[in-house]
Amino acid sequence: MTRKEYIIKQKKMGRHIFGVFPAQYPREILWAMNVAPVEIWDPPLEITGANAHLQPYICSVVKLGLELILQGKCDDLDGFLFPHTCDSIQNLASIVNDYLGMEKPCYFFYHPKAPFRDSSRIFYMEHLKGLAALLKQQLGPLDFSKLNQCVEQGRQVTSLLRELYNMRASGEISASNVQFYRVIRQGEFLLPDDFIPLLEEFLTASKGRSVAGPAVILSGVLPNPPEILTLLDELGVRVADDDFLSCSRRLLVPFSQARDPFEAMAETYFAMPPCTTKGSSIDERLNYLFGKIEGSGARGVIFDMVKFCEPELFDVPQLVKELKERGLATLVIDSELNQGLSGQLNTRVEAFVEMIS
Ligand code: SF4
Repeated sequence: MTRKEYIIKQKKMGRHIFGVFPAQYPREILWAMNVAPVEIWDPPLEITGANAHLQPYICSVVKLGLELILQGKCDDLDGFLFPHTCDSIQNLASIVNDYLGMEKPCYFFYHPKAPFRDSSRIFYMEHLKGLAALLKQQLGPLDFSKLNQCVEQGRQVTSLLRELYNMRASGEISASNVQFYRVIRQGEFLLPDDFIPLLEEFLTASKGRSVAGPAVILSGVLPNPPEILTLLDELGVRVADDDFLSCSRRLLVPFSQARDPFEAMAETYFAMPPCTTKGSSIDERLNYLFGKIEGSGARGVIFDMVKFCEPELFDVPQLVKELKERGLATLVIDSELNQGLSGQLNTRVEAFVEMIS
């Protein structure tokens, strides 16, 4: 079922559909309030109108998200949620809410950034509860026991994803790189009732030996252009793990045993893997990357950058330097989303793979 068909189905079932911009947000609150959050990362569109509203040096996550709205493809949505991921998303939120004259509720979610203190926790809890209170005006009150169930479903999703990631890191998954991310990314719009069985089925079906070629880690915002995955498959390379904002950094979160669902969500947020958009230090990010490299036997890291993504670009030079000093191969590529891999990028990836083979 396509994303569009799924949205239509959910709407018919009486669910509210929200367009959610990257990256991390309290999905459990939305699920519990009968909302199907549909994440907007890289819709496959040609840019026709967005450039008139944006500076030329903006990332294509923002450009494509705005284009989706301008082309009227969000007209049937019941609202938008803008997490404060970075300045670019923040600017997009202003354009949509303040200047486009859209008659749609826009919600904002502000995460505290590192370094975290006690006050960060209080701030986060207040924002979780504040968001629920604002949503209540449109959607009705939040059912506490339903929220508890949704937090539990969130744990199940995480547990299945973790199992899949662990299997992949140990070379025990027969799925290709393309297949792996195709399934993982369904979580960007499927509700847990539908995502959990999909993950279970994929887990069972893909148990087996991974390709024998060299292993790499992918780092960046999201696995796009998808052609990079196809190329790595063709070259017999196993993506053994990732450090993508859209994937492991926000999906592989530690469990919280807290009984209060808000406490559990807060604990999970503060225990998330390090990320540029949370203000994590380079040391934390390096430790995280080295943990992944050691756990998977990867021989190198490919930084698959979205052009003009400021938060990521700040860290990459230092990460590359440190990785190289420890004898690891690195490759940095940057491209616009959905624009494929140029011949030059293709050649650079092939040369990198030859080097680590
Ligand atoms: S790609 Fe980078 S700059 Fe663009 S929205 Fe994502 S984190 Fe922000």
